[in-house]
Amino acid sequence: MFYTGTRNSNIKVTSAEAIVKGLSDEGGLFVPENLPKLTESDMKHLCKMSYAERAHLVLKKFLTDFTDSELKSAVESAYNDNFSVEGITELSQLYPDCYILELFHGPTCAFKDMALQLLPHLMTISASKSEAVKGRHIAVLTATSGDTGKAALEGFRDIENTSVTVFFPEDGVSLMQKRQMTTQEGANIRVCAVKGNFDDCQTGVKEIFSDSDLKAQLAEKDMVFSSANSINWGRLVPQIVYYISAYASLLAAGEIEQGEKVNICVPTGNFGNILAAYYSREMGLPVNKLICASNSNNVLTDCINTGVYDKNRELVLTASPSMDILVSSNFERLLYHLSGNNESVIKALFADLKEEGRYRLSSVIHEKLKALFYGGWCDEGQTGQTIRDVFTEYGYLLDTHTAVAYKIYTDYRKNSGDSTKTIITATASPYKFCAAVKGALTGEAPEADEFITARKLEELTNTKMPEPLARTQSLPVRFADSVEISEMKRAVSGIISSL
Ligand SMILES: *Cc1c(COP(=O)(O)O)cnc(C)c1O
Repeated sequence: MFYTGTRNSNIKVTSAEAIVKGLSDEGGLFVPENLPKLTESDMKHLCKMSYAERAHLVLKKFLTDFTDSELKSAVESAYNDNFSVEGITELSQLYPDCYILELFHGPTCAFKDMALQLLPHLMTISASKSEAVKGRHIAVLTATSGDTGKAALEGFRDIENTSVTVFFPEDGVSLMQKRQMTTQEGANIRVCAVKGNFDDCQTGVKEIFSDSDLKAQLAEKDMVFSSANSINWGRLVPQIVYYISAYASLLAAGEIEQGEKVNICVPTGNFGNILAAYYSREMGLPVNKLICASNSNNVLTDCINTGVYDKNRELVLTASPSMDILVSSNFERLLYHLSGNNESVIKALFADLKEEGRYRLSSVIHEKLKALFYGGWCDEGQTGQTIRDVFTEYGYLLDTHTAVAYKIYTDYRKNSGDSTKTIITATASPYKFCAAVKGALTGEAPEADEFITARKLEELTNTKMPEPLARTQSLPVRFADSVEISEMKRAVSGIISSL
């Protein structure tokens, strides 16, 4: 199985090459040339398997240049007792027809762990297969709006011949997220705050990747840059796994019948998570509607509804910061597939985005998009109201991101009358965003100390702060640096010298 580029279909690389490189040379993203299928017998087997075995079965279809034993060792290293629940993910039924797929039981309490516990293993195996990278140190650089950074640090910590540097927006992450990153353990990791927003961090990192001075400095030290951001193919495949796994679990538990369709609803930022749901559908998983939920940064809602993607607007800082994004990078992959794998269409659209900050989909692509996806958004007041309502009614505590998804799911149900059973992905523990969650329940302002807020939330809801968050309270802050946007490059140069 080979991978090609969304902006150049002459590209043909193996999965290992796609994972090591992250971004394809012409600026496009790697996509599979064709999608493997799930068979009925796969589904039968999946029902009886552990999560790691399910991951193995799915990965094998995509990473055909990996050996069986490489895949086995990767999934076993990724999915074990580093997750706090035996099934790795957990399905909670809120009421008949509505299931919450909890993806936040990993070491950093956000769904990013599902991919980032596996990616370092995929990346080191991929590197060993690539003549250009073999034996060289992989310096992972990542910009984060909070959750990716922590999950990348935890995933790559002390993995041989790799290092990870994370840039986060100083005022754009929750106190708990900041605490998690600045206390990170491990010898091969660095964390740096940036005086700017997430887009500034992301742009800074992109410039660093193509900077010729830094490239020369790297080459001298026999190192290569790589990225752990969600454009990396190695992050998408592990995400396909949990949709297939959730379906198998529902089937095994007799909650659904073989072949019964389900809706999937996802709180969306960079479009990685919901794209994985789309891929699972294309593989043959019985999925009806994909429900794309946004916060006030509702670029995707508008695009699904009008066919115009327009990022010419102010980025709004919300209580669901991992969705505060105006350019959802993985949307390019979806458009590529919807255009019938047509690179010219993608090149034209993204040239428009670069020049005018917007593009208009052809009516054919827009119709396909609307047939597959429902898009909706809600504001801060509605998010808080949803957290309050769901806790009062069902005793279930949602985080701010999952609350957005739940709200849009109820809107969709009301507007469409569709009562197909629905899986809503829960992407973070409410304790990662305890100030906003407690505020939603009580109307009180947060305490200056996030641990006091968290303890109050525990008392209020009779729930428990996950252990990985609780333990950061006693860890020393290792990284207190904060740099101007213009200083990011110099910071990276210093880090390379120190490695
Ligand atoms: C990253 C993240 C999202 C958005 O996921 P995408 O794959 O970027 O669309 C939503 N919720 C949480 C908690 C996240 O960390």
